[in-house]
Amino acid sequence: ALIIGGGVTGITAALELADGGYHVHLVEKESSIGGRMALLDKVFPTGDCSVCVLAPKMNEVDSHPNITLHTYTDIEAIDGHAGRFRVRLLKKPRYVNEYCKGCIEFCSAVCPVSISNEFDFGLSKKKAIYKPFPQAVPEYAIIDSEHCVGCGLCAAACPLDAIEYDQKPEKLEVEVGAIVVATGYDIFDASRKPNLHVESPDVITSAQLERMLNASGPTEGILIQPSSIEDNSTPKTPSRVAFIQCVGSRDVQVGNPYCSKICCMVAIKNSIQIKERHPEVEVVVHYIDIRAAGEGYEEMYIRAQKAGVKFIRGMVGEVIPEEHGAILCYENTLGVDNGGMREEHYDLVVLSVGMEPSQSTKSIASMLKLPMREDRFLAPAHPKMMPVETVQRGVLVAGCASGPKEIQFSISQAADTASKVMNLLSKGEIEVDPYVAEVDAGRCVGCGICT
Ligand code: SF4
Repeated sequence: ALIIGGGVTGITAALELADGGYHVHLVEKESSIGGRMALLDKVFPTGDCSVCVLAPKMNEVDSHPNITLHTYTDIEAIDGHAGRFRVRLLKKPRYVNEYCKGCIEFCSAVCPVSISNEFDFGLSKKKAIYKPFPQAVPEYAIIDSEHCVGCGLCAAACPLDAIEYDQKPEKLEVEVGAIVVATGYDIFDASRKPNLHVESPDVITSAQLERMLNASGPTEGILIQPSSIEDNSTPKTPSRVAFIQCVGSRDVQVGNPYCSKICCMVAIKNSIQIKERHPEVEVVVHYIDIRAAGEGYEEMYIRAQKAGVKFIRGMVGEVIPEEHGAILCYENTLGVDNGGMREEHYDLVVLSVGMEPSQSTKSIASMLKLPMREDRFLAPAHPKMMPVETVQRGVLVAGCASGPKEIQFSISQAADTASKVMNLLSKGEIEVDPYVAEVDAGRCVGCGICT
């Protein structure tokens, strides 16, 4: 089977199938598996350290005899049908060979390049040779070819001769009987809401806060007001923190009328964490509705209120950036004056950004001719009765590729897809519809002989 996407959904599906005795090709476009879950601090409602529960699974994938892991690899084309899909892969060069132990102790230290680190959502810098995060799998370093200046310092510094500047992209082809699409989601780009001013230093996204609260993140888990670092003054703990909910979700103006399902609980989880670490910090969540409908969620919401987190119901109209912090213009629909607009200063504003269909989902859907829903997520064969099947036999979908969902639902869908793949592959032989020949535009040389 082919699993597309190495986040928690793809990892679960791959392990289920591999443990069941089937060979799996797990393809991930980034240089490490782990997906978004690997970058989170804690997960709700249990409060477990996210990467601590995920990392053992990532390592199991890496060492499983039934899994071939293709990281930093794109899918170029897929053709065929259930029972025999042909998949063309493009493995991008890392410019580092298998001798690399991922220590980045020598190479990264001498690299003169410093660029924004996308794994910390721009809150930190990385070198042109880097490892995405400490628990990355595989553990190799990687060179960012776009920013590398070719000085050769990393090659000279590496004691294992692991740098190979002349690596080339590699084309591969694999044949599989079934495909699981686990391409996840993209985070809403908050700059599409110019009234919220995400470009100002003390207005950050929930993804950035997640990295900030993470012990292996840019501030080593310490809550900091970013403008105090930019000033080169002593990093300051913000005294007042505001969360703004539904940023890029339930918003027809940006084309996303759906609820992203997780962001209320993420804000509740992070506000509890801030209160636990800094009881003196005032934390206010500006929400439209609080959606806490999962097991243990309502209890967590109550816990946040008991911890002193304030919840204000109403829309935030505008964020006005200041040199330090920002002013929020908001309504309070449950206030005594029933909805009058107010203004208040906060030291740190966190935008609870929602989920959007990933670019990878769109490209795989067009390769496999899978229909998308109106909300642009992948359409399952039937939303109630066949939530992981697609209209293409042998192609299944799990996790956020088919719409926003929490980790535990993505994991159960992954296990579900694995059992359906096993059902299909265990048949040994299947009947397929009469095959109508098609021209493979990627390979046709246009000689005209076939016609
Ligand atoms: Fe808004 Fe909460 Fe739904 Fe997220 S989960 S879109 S914050 S209502």
